[in-house]
Amino acid sequence: MRAFGARVAAAAARADDVASLLWPRTCAGCGRPSEGPVCETCRGAVSPRRAGRDCAVCGKTLLATDAAAGTATPVCEHCRTTPPGFDAARSAVDYDGPAREIVQSLKYRRALDAASWMADWMLGCVAANWPDERFDAVVPVPLHFWREFRRGYNQAELLAKFVAAGLGAPVASRLLARLRDTGTQTRLGAAKRRENVAGAFAVRSGREAEAYGKRLLVIDDVMTTGATLGAASAALRAAGAGRVLALSFARG
Ligand SMILES: [Zn+2]
Ligand SMILES: [Zn+2]
Repeated sequence: MRAFGARVAAAAARADDVASLLWPRTCAGCGRPSEGPVCETCRGAVSPRRAGRDCAVCGKTLLATDAAAGTATPVCEHCRTTPPGFDAARSAVDYDGPAREIVQSLKYRRALDAASWMADWMLGCVAANWPDERFDAVVPVPLHFWREFRRGYNQAELLAKFVAAGLGAPVASRLLARLRDTGTQTRLGAAKRRENVAGAFAVRSGREAEAYGKRLLVIDDVMTTGATLGAASAALRAAGAGRVLALSFARG
């Protein structure tokens, strides 16, 4: 199925190439005509998340009033009380303005050529936060079978392929399976999201050696509460992964 999905995505990308010759290409951020996947105006409006008072684990921006905010290695209340499945998580940009539209375009409007542009931001985020990390593999958060079948591709997998290429690491697209479709989590709070995705992922049987003792980078397009990336990371940890870092293009 995955191979089928990849073929569909490749065919769609070729169709997009042909289409761009016939019709002007549009920006994934604003929908106006653009030479690249993202126009100059939208490019100028996207900026990296500013490192400041961030939780050392999940990367969430801490409030000045948070008790941990003034400490050398601040860890937010949530990560202290409920340690997530990953060792640390970071995101390249905030999920607002053109960045939000670009994510939506990749996910729902087949703006597949935006993926490499987004991955460049993610590689910048890795360089800024984890300059000395080396990864054995890059692991996309999988979609449920039917969701990927209907969409024809997994946007996290497209991002993971470009990020992996940039890091010189292999992409492990079939390491994790999504055991059930967890639906949209937009209206759920943090606790409900964790409940919703708990146990939703597992390392595929026979592939445990690809996780055991390995340093892995798990990829998703957006991180909101970290529940999904946390559950995917926990599945890798359960298979014995040595270190699991999580990276998203945007932070909601
Ligand atoms: Zn634009
Ligand atoms: Zn945290």
